[in-house]
Amino acid sequence: MAFEVTILGNSSASPAPNRHPSGQYINILDHHILVDCGEGTQMQLQRYKIKKSRINQIFISHVHGDHILGLPGLLLSMNLMSRENPIHIYGPKELFEILNVFFKHSETRFSFELNYHTIDPNKTEILFENIYYKVIAFPLFHRVPTAGFLIQERSKLRKLNVEVCEKHKIPFTHFNDLKRGKDYMSPDGKVHIKNEKLTFEPGKPITYAYCSDTIFDERVIKSVENADILYHESTFLHDKIQRAIDTMHTTSKQAGIVASRANVDKLIIGHFSARYDDLQPLLLEARTEFANTEIADEGRSFIME
Ligand SMILES: [Zn+2]
Ligand SMILES: [Zn+2]
Repeated sequence: MAFEVTILGNSSASPAPNRHPSGQYINILDHHILVDCGEGTQMQLQRYKIKKSRINQIFISHVHGDHILGLPGLLLSMNLMSRENPIHIYGPKELFEILNVFFKHSETRFSFELNYHTIDPNKTEILFENIYYKVIAFPLFHRVPTAGFLIQERSKLRKLNVEVCEKHKIPFTHFNDLKRGKDYMSPDGKVHIKNEKLTFEPGKPITYAYCSDTIFDERVIKSVENADILYHESTFLHDKIQRAIDTMHTTSKQAGIVASRANVDKLIIGHFSARYDDLQPLLLEARTEFANTEIADEGRSFIME
């Protein structure tokens, strides 16, 4: 089963030709999540043939326009499609003030339940968990209250050793119990086989870390430690370090340092300033600190297994 992140936008606030502001679509074990929703996100979903009707959780990092301006439009389109399934939106309290004013004055009535979940961006907290995955918010350090997100698989199921199961003629109706770690006991109680003989160890549960907008800060490194993939903003090249500090953003070099010190497997950089037509120099700069870095190319999906 897949854990897949699709990039919908990799640009920062100013419009850039052929690039879009922040938005990511995540499919984790057939649960469909949107993270940030910049202007044009619904058009990007359409372009990459992702059904918006499937999305039922939206996580918003902060209320800067490049992360939320697509949200009212997306919700209104869901309404036009007479959506019935509830939607859950997680974001700082200011987000809900903004949405409420808009929906009040536009006299919008939704055909579905709109559930608001307030994030406190000053603390690390579990926002959601079920048996398949959980989402944790952690503080980022930006001009307005901002949260990063960890999206983590829950513990994985053991893998069947099909060959041995076939040899012992284990009925397939027992497979789910075996994957959950139970021993095999035949219905008449005569055959007992230890689970370890019939299954393999499960792989490590996967963690995806999302850092939207933040100044370089040691505390972020701690929060994203050992993630399989870290998405980190990389708004400027390091020669614009002063600009990065003034606007509370990160340079490509610093994003590489975060990835390296946090011991992640892969770094994806995005949220590029409109001043850069060519993104290659940003990639090369991040790679001087952390070799396994990729650009958050729009439309590209990163699959974690
Ligand atoms: Zn931004
Ligand atoms: Zn911002």
